[in-house]
Amino acid sequence: MKIALIAHDKKKTDLVQFVTAYQPIFTDHELFATGTTGLRIQEATGLSIHRFRSGPLGGDQEIGALIAQNKMDMVLFFRDPLTAQPHEPDITALIRLCDVYSIPLATNMGTAEILVRGLDRGDLHWRDVVHEQDNK
Ligand code: PGA
Repeated sequence: MKIALIAHDKKKTDLVQFVTAYQPIFTDHELFATGTTGLRIQEATGLSIHRFRSGPLGGDQEIGALIAQNKMDMVLFFRDPLTAQPHEPDITALIRLCDVYSIPLATNMGTAEILVRGLDRGDLHWRDVVHEQDNK
């Protein structure tokens, strides 16, 4: 599965710890991230991650473009609800696209736990069916 990882500055350490904790699961998947988030996770885990631009410089929109092409299977987006973000419209657009395409989206660690455990036990196999239909 293709998984997008994004964390606002005050949540980056949380996401790094989260990915580290579930590294055996993440190793089996294709990882994407906004620039700084991806770098932090790469440095901490050594996982291979396709890094887009930093979120405020368009990284959220780059991930959104993949969602719009139905090429992203899960988004883990650790948002900071207590700090204003200069790229708020991009964040809203990304979340909206997840809803348009029914892409599993976690905006906090509590939900991310459920999604990643679900991923591990095969709850996202329906995404393979979607991709097979796209390829017909
Ligand atoms: P970053 O972008 O990973 O480059 O910091 C995330 C964001 O702030 O949207």
